[in-house]
Amino acid sequence: MPIRLAVPNEIVPGERRIALEPGIAKRLIDLGVEVCMEKGAALSAHFSDAAFEGVKIIDTPAELYKGAEIIFKVQPPTLEELDLIDDGAVIVGFMAPHKNEDVTQKMCEKHITALAMELVPRITRAQSMDALSSQAAIAGYKGVLMGADLASVFFPMLTTAAGTIRPARVLIIGAGVAGLQAIATAKRLGAIVEAYDVRSATREQCESLGAKFVDTGVSADGEGGYARELTEEEKQNQLDVLSKHVSQSDVVITTAAIPGRPSPKIISREMVANMKVGAVIVDLASEGGGNCELTVPGETIEFESRVTIHGPLNVASQTPVHASEMYARNLFNLMSPFIKDGELALDWNDEVLAKTVLTCEGEVKSERYRREEITK
Ligand code: NAD
Repeated sequence: MPIRLAVPNEIVPGERRIALEPGIAKRLIDLGVEVCMEKGAALSAHFSDAAFEGVKIIDTPAELYKGAEIIFKVQPPTLEELDLIDDGAVIVGFMAPHKNEDVTQKMCEKHITALAMELVPRITRAQSMDALSSQAAIAGYKGVLMGADLASVFFPMLTTAAGTIRPARVLIIGAGVAGLQAIATAKRLGAIVEAYDVRSATREQCESLGAKFVDTGVSADGEGGYARELTEEEKQNQLDVLSKHVSQSDVVITTAAIPGRPSPKIISREMVANMKVGAVIVDLASEGGGNCELTVPGETIEFESRVTIHGPLNVASQTPVHASEMYARNLFNLMSPFIKDGELALDWNDEVLAKTVLTCEGEVKSERYRREEITK
């Protein structure tokens, strides 16, 4: 009997992505897998059932999960979904473990092997499996489009019969995966782009994409290429220099995150009050509370009818076709080395797999989870 892989409809409100796309379904079938998908599950990502050639379309979640040994998901399973999933199954998806302790606990009780995409180690070999990066790149792109839409100015310089229009000034704060994509997108739209990050290594990357790097004199290179938390004095120095640049910007896109910690507050109320009338902040760090003190995650607010502060959540889901394609490829790249002739054999000596596992054999396996490093 070939192994059965199930892909359900994502039930979290607003989630439009799906953990499969037709090309990946075909590659799984070629590996001897029986691929099953819930009826209509991919419609929100604009794929019809008919596009999934060779995939069994199943009417209800209960029938879908019955006998499924592997489940591909985007959002963490709910407790209700877990009731339908067989004991001992392998679930691959984002698990947001510290926000879902009851789910993690229940997965232990059901001896489920949970592979958490946020735990994929950031090593070169795992880049093709890194869903945090693939989805962050989409968010960076989309965040700039949101900013352009909310802005009261054009992004490009325009020379018209009615005179010349100055290009918009866009400041990107945080130059990780999302920030770099935001720089590239804002440049393509013709804006004058400035960028800032606490990690000094990002200067060259920002400049190579055409952004001017804002130098605050503060460097916060931390472990594994990530930022460390700043001291109070460093934070003040950073703020003093940044304030000036924020006040001159038409659009500010913030993407600054510290893995496992709430998003650092970089833009204060006072800085917002000093912004231009009609200026816009798109806070892509809203998921972790936001980089702006005034951000309300999930909402768009007006500060004194002068500045718009947009705090979008689950931004990647708003570009569901490509987000699903990239995400499904990430899952495939993670799992395919362990599927042969329709059988699954997980190799715990594999570094990527060993670090990605959250629960297995009735217990929490992830060291990073135990050390509470992961909150996003
Ligand atoms: P992230 O989402 O954790 O953070 C976004 C950016 O915010 C980072 O560049 C960080 O330095 C910056 N930041 C944090 N605090 C800040 C502050 N107070 N002020 C300004 N900026 C601040 O980061 P990410 O996008 O997931 O990636 C971080 C790094 O890891 C990047 O260099 C990326 O290229 C690297 N990476 C490597 C791999 C791999 O090798 N497999 C995969 C993904 C990312």
